[in-house]
Amino acid sequence: MSLPFQSAAILGAGLMGRLLAVTLAQAGCRVALYEAGSPDAEGAAARVAAAMLAPLAESAVAPVPLVRMGHYALSRWPELLAPLVEPVFFQREGTLVLWHRQDAAEAARLARVLARTGAEVPELAPMQTLDGTDIAALEPSLGQRFAQGLFLPAKGSSTTGRSWLPCSPHCKPVPKSPCTGSPRASRATFPQARRASPTG
Ligand SMILES: Cc1cc2nc3c(=O)[nH]c(=O)nc-3n(C[C@H](O)[C@H](O)[C@H](O)COP(=O)(O)OP(=O)(O)OC[C@H]3O[C@@H](n4cnc5c(N)ncnc54)[C@H](O)[C@@H]3O)c2cc1C
Repeated sequence: MSLPFQSAAILGAGLMGRLLAVTLAQAGCRVALYEAGSPDAEGAAARVAAAMLAPLAESAVAPVPLVRMGHYALSRWPELLAPLVEPVFFQREGTLVLWHRQDAAEAARLARVLARTGAEVPELAPMQTLDGTDIAALEPSLGQRFAQGLFLPAKGSSTTGRSWLPCSPHCKPVPKSPCTGSPRASRATFPQARRASPTG
Protein backbone atom coordinates (compact mmCIF):
# COMPACT_ATOMS: atom_id res chain seq x y z
CA MET A 1 0.00 0.00 0.00
CA SER A 2 1.47 3.39 -0.92
CA LEU A 3 0.35 6.29 1.24
CA PRO A 4 0.19 10.00 0.37
CA PHE A 5 1.45 10.82 3.92
CA GLN A 6 4.25 9.59 6.18
CA SER A 7 2.84 10.07 9.64
CA ALA A 8 -0.57 9.88 11.24
CA ALA A 9 -2.19 10.56 14.61
CA ILE A 10 -5.13 8.39 15.60
CA LEU A 11 -7.53 9.27 18.42
CA GLY A 12 -8.85 6.21 20.23
CA ALA A 13 -7.03 2.92 20.85
CA GLY A 14 -10.17 0.81 20.57
CA LEU A 15 -10.64 -1.85 17.91
CA MET A 16 -10.73 0.50 14.93
CA GLY A 17 -7.88 2.67 16.20
CA ARG A 18 -5.66 -0.37 16.73
CA LEU A 19 -6.50 -1.94 13.40
CA LEU A 20 -5.88 1.33 11.61
CA ALA A 21 -2.60 1.89 13.49
CA VAL A 22 -1.28 -1.58 12.67
CA THR A 23 -2.30 -1.31 9.01
CA LEU A 24 -0.70 2.12 8.58
CA ALA A 25 2.45 1.04 10.43
CA GLN A 26 2.75 -2.00 8.16
CA ALA A 27 2.62 0.39 5.20
CA GLY A 28 5.60 2.29 6.59
CA CYS A 29 3.70 5.15 8.23
CA ARG A 30 4.82 6.63 11.59
CA VAL A 31 1.77 6.28 13.80
CA ALA A 32 0.91 7.97 17.10
CA LEU A 33 -2.10 6.36 18.74
CA TYR A 34 -3.82 8.41 21.46
CA GLU A 35 -6.25 7.02 23.98
CA ALA A 36 -8.42 9.09 26.30
CA GLY A 37 -8.49 6.29 28.86
CA SER A 38 -5.57 4.07 29.88
CA PRO A 39 -3.26 2.48 27.26
CA ASP A 40 -5.31 -0.71 27.64
CA ALA A 41 -8.44 1.24 26.65
CA GLU A 42 -10.60 -0.51 29.24
CA GLY A 43 -13.56 1.66 28.26
CA ALA A 44 -13.54 0.63 24.60
CA ALA A 45 -16.65 -1.16 23.34
CA ALA A 46 -14.43 -3.86 21.83
CA ARG A 47 -13.47 -4.91 25.37
CA VAL A 48 -16.98 -6.20 26.03
CA ALA A 49 -18.06 -7.14 22.51
CA ALA A 50 -19.24 -10.67 21.91
CA ALA A 51 -16.91 -10.58 18.89
CA MET A 52 -19.20 -12.57 16.65
CA LEU A 53 -19.09 -12.30 12.88
CA ALA A 54 -22.41 -13.70 11.80
CA PRO A 55 -23.62 -11.64 8.84
CA LEU A 56 -26.46 -13.93 7.87
CA ALA A 57 -27.78 -14.19 11.43
CA GLU A 58 -27.41 -10.44 11.88
CA SER A 59 -29.52 -9.78 8.81
CA ALA A 60 -32.43 -10.24 11.23
CA VAL A 61 -31.67 -6.69 12.36
CA ALA A 62 -29.13 -5.40 9.82
CA PRO A 63 -29.64 -4.09 6.26
CA VAL A 64 -28.19 -5.94 3.26
CA PRO A 65 -25.16 -3.60 2.72
CA LEU A 66 -24.08 -4.32 6.32
CA VAL A 67 -24.51 -8.06 5.74
CA ARG A 68 -22.24 -7.79 2.67
CA MET A 69 -19.61 -5.96 4.73
CA GLY A 70 -19.85 -8.67 7.39
CA HIS A 71 -19.34 -11.33 4.75
CA TYR A 72 -16.26 -9.51 3.46
CA ALA A 73 -14.95 -9.28 7.05
CA LEU A 74 -15.00 -13.09 7.36
CA SER A 75 -12.06 -13.37 4.97
CA ARG A 76 -10.47 -10.02 5.91
CA TRP A 77 -10.07 -10.85 9.62
CA PRO A 78 -7.59 -13.74 9.12
CA GLU A 79 -5.53 -11.49 6.82
CA LEU A 80 -5.41 -8.78 9.49
CA LEU A 81 -4.56 -11.20 12.29
CA ALA A 82 -1.92 -13.28 10.47
CA PRO A 83 0.98 -10.79 10.77
CA LEU A 84 0.35 -9.95 14.45
CA VAL A 85 3.01 -11.09 16.90
CA GLU A 86 0.58 -11.98 19.68
CA PRO A 87 -2.11 -14.57 18.83
CA VAL A 88 -5.76 -13.46 18.66
CA PHE A 89 -8.37 -16.20 18.99
CA PHE A 90 -10.37 -16.66 15.80
CA GLN A 91 -12.54 -19.52 14.65
CA ARG A 92 -14.91 -20.20 11.78
CA GLU A 93 -17.33 -22.87 12.84
CA GLY A 94 -20.62 -21.48 11.62
CA THR A 95 -23.56 -20.30 13.70
CA LEU A 96 -26.11 -22.55 15.36
CA VAL A 97 -29.49 -20.91 16.01
CA LEU A 98 -31.68 -22.62 18.61
CA TRP A 99 -34.92 -21.69 20.32
CA HIS A 100 -37.29 -22.89 22.98
CA ARG A 101 -40.72 -24.16 21.97
CA GLN A 102 -42.47 -20.96 23.04
CA ASP A 103 -40.31 -18.99 20.57
CA ALA A 104 -41.22 -21.14 17.54
CA ALA A 105 -43.18 -18.34 15.83
CA GLU A 106 -40.25 -15.93 16.21
CA ALA A 107 -37.90 -18.61 14.85
CA ALA A 108 -40.13 -19.09 11.80
CA ARG A 109 -40.07 -15.33 11.20
CA LEU A 110 -36.27 -15.34 11.50
CA ALA A 111 -36.00 -18.23 9.01
CA ARG A 112 -38.07 -16.24 6.48
CA VAL A 113 -35.81 -13.19 6.92
CA LEU A 114 -32.67 -15.32 6.50
CA ALA A 115 -34.09 -16.99 3.37
CA ARG A 116 -34.79 -13.55 1.90
CA THR A 117 -31.26 -12.40 2.76
CA GLY A 118 -29.85 -15.56 1.17
CA ALA A 119 -31.64 -14.70 -2.07
CA GLU A 120 -30.32 -11.11 -2.00
CA VAL A 121 -26.76 -12.04 -1.01
CA PRO A 122 -26.09 -15.31 -2.88
CA GLU A 123 -22.41 -15.41 -1.82
CA LEU A 124 -23.61 -16.41 1.67
CA ALA A 125 -23.78 -20.17 2.15
CA PRO A 126 -27.44 -21.19 2.53
CA MET A 127 -28.80 -21.97 5.98
CA GLN A 128 -29.61 -25.56 6.85
CA THR A 129 -32.61 -26.79 8.82
CA LEU A 130 -31.66 -29.20 11.61
CA ASP A 131 -33.57 -31.74 13.65
CA GLY A 132 -32.67 -32.95 17.15
CA THR A 133 -30.26 -35.61 15.87
CA ASP A 134 -28.40 -33.11 13.69
CA ILE A 135 -28.09 -30.69 16.62
CA ALA A 136 -26.74 -33.40 18.93
CA ALA A 137 -24.18 -34.38 16.28
CA LEU A 138 -23.02 -30.76 15.87
CA GLU A 139 -23.02 -29.93 19.58
CA PRO A 140 -22.96 -33.20 21.58
CA SER A 141 -23.18 -31.33 24.88
CA LEU A 142 -26.73 -30.23 23.96
CA GLY A 143 -27.91 -33.82 23.61
CA GLN A 144 -31.55 -33.99 22.53
CA ARG A 145 -32.66 -30.84 24.35
CA PHE A 146 -33.62 -29.03 21.15
CA ALA A 147 -35.88 -30.55 18.52
CA GLN A 148 -35.22 -27.99 15.80
CA GLY A 149 -32.55 -25.52 14.79
CA LEU A 150 -30.91 -23.63 12.00
CA PHE A 151 -27.26 -23.93 11.01
CA LEU A 152 -25.60 -21.06 9.18
CA PRO A 153 -22.40 -22.59 7.71
CA ALA A 154 -18.98 -21.07 8.26
CA LYS A 155 -18.56 -19.96 4.66
CA GLY A 156 -21.39 -17.51 4.96
CA SER A 157 -21.83 -17.00 8.65
CA SER A 158 -19.23 -17.60 11.20
CA THR A 159 -17.97 -16.78 14.64
CA THR A 160 -14.83 -15.06 15.77
CA GLY A 161 -13.80 -15.46 19.36
CA ARG A 162 -12.19 -12.19 20.29
CA SER A 163 -12.15 -8.79 18.69
CA TRP A 164 -9.56 -7.27 21.01
CA LEU A 165 -6.10 -6.71 19.63
CA PRO A 166 -3.22 -6.76 22.10
CA CYS A 167 -1.47 -3.43 22.42
CA SER A 168 2.17 -3.09 21.57
CA PRO A 169 4.80 -3.28 24.32
CA HIS A 170 5.61 0.35 23.48
CA CYS A 171 2.34 1.55 25.03
CA LYS A 172 2.98 4.27 27.55
CA PRO A 173 0.58 6.41 29.53
CA VAL A 174 0.95 10.19 29.68
CA PRO A 175 -1.11 12.67 31.74
CA LYS A 176 -4.87 12.54 31.58
CA SER A 177 -6.42 13.44 28.28
CA PRO A 178 -8.46 16.59 27.80
CA CYS A 179 -9.98 15.06 24.69
CA THR A 180 -11.87 12.24 26.42
CA GLY A 181 -15.07 11.76 24.49
CA SER A 182 -14.46 14.93 22.50
CA PRO A 183 -15.06 14.43 18.79
CA ARG A 184 -13.48 17.84 18.24
CA ALA A 185 -10.10 17.03 19.77
CA SER A 186 -7.66 19.24 17.91
CA ARG A 187 -4.06 18.68 16.89
CA ALA A 188 -3.01 20.94 19.77
CA THR A 189 -4.62 18.62 22.32
CA PHE A 190 -2.83 15.49 21.10
CA PRO A 191 0.32 15.80 23.25
CA GLN A 192 -1.78 15.86 26.41
CA ALA A 193 -3.73 12.74 25.48
CA ARG A 194 -2.79 9.39 26.89
CA ARG A 195 -0.62 7.78 24.32
CA ALA A 196 -0.63 4.14 23.23
CA SER A 197 1.55 4.18 20.17
CA PRO A 198 2.63 1.03 18.32
CA THR A 199 5.38 2.77 16.38
CA GLY A 200 6.55 5.75 18.21
C1 LIG B 1 -22.01 -5.52 24.45
C2 LIG B 1 -21.46 -5.38 23.04
C3 LIG B 1 -21.42 -6.49 22.22
C4 LIG B 1 -20.92 -6.37 20.91
N1 LIG B 1 -20.86 -7.50 20.13
C5 LIG B 1 -20.34 -7.43 18.90
C6 LIG B 1 -20.23 -8.61 18.09
O1 LIG B 1 -20.60 -9.72 18.49
N2 LIG B 1 -19.67 -8.49 16.85
C7 LIG B 1 -19.23 -7.27 16.37
O2 LIG B 1 -18.73 -7.21 15.25
N3 LIG B 1 -19.33 -6.13 17.11
C8 LIG B 1 -19.87 -6.19 18.35
N4 LIG B 1 -19.98 -5.03 19.10
C9 LIG B 1 -19.58 -3.75 18.47
C10 LIG B 1 -18.07 -3.52 18.52
O3 LIG B 1 -17.60 -3.71 19.85
C11 LIG B 1 -17.79 -2.09 18.05
O4 LIG B 1 -18.33 -1.92 16.75
C12 LIG B 1 -16.29 -1.78 18.00
O5 LIG B 1 -15.69 -2.05 19.23
C13 LIG B 1 -16.11 -0.32 17.63
O6 LIG B 1 -14.72 -0.04 17.61
P1 LIG B 1 -14.20 1.43 17.83
O7 LIG B 1 -12.71 1.36 17.81
O8 LIG B 1 -14.90 2.33 16.88
O9 LIG B 1 -14.73 1.87 19.28
P2 LIG B 1 -14.20 1.40 20.71
O10 LIG B 1 -13.76 -0.04 20.68
O11 LIG B 1 -15.25 1.78 21.69
O12 LIG B 1 -12.92 2.32 20.97
C14 LIG B 1 -13.01 3.74 21.04
C15 LIG B 1 -11.83 4.24 21.91
O13 LIG B 1 -11.63 5.62 21.64
C16 LIG B 1 -11.34 6.28 22.87
N5 LIG B 1 -11.65 7.70 22.65
C17 LIG B 1 -12.87 8.25 22.46
N6 LIG B 1 -12.75 9.58 22.22
C18 LIG B 1 -11.40 9.86 22.26
C19 LIG B 1 -10.65 11.06 22.09
N7 LIG B 1 -11.24 12.23 21.83
N8 LIG B 1 -9.29 11.00 22.20
C20 LIG B 1 -8.69 9.80 22.46
N9 LIG B 1 -9.37 8.63 22.63
C21 LIG B 1 -10.71 8.66 22.53
C22 LIG B 1 -12.21 5.59 23.89
O14 LIG B 1 -11.71 5.75 25.20
C23 LIG B 1 -12.13 4.12 23.41
O15 LIG B 1 -11.07 3.41 24.04
C24 LIG B 1 -20.47 -5.11 20.41
C25 LIG B 1 -20.51 -3.99 21.26
C26 LIG B 1 -21.01 -4.12 22.54
C27 LIG B 1 -21.03 -2.89 23.43
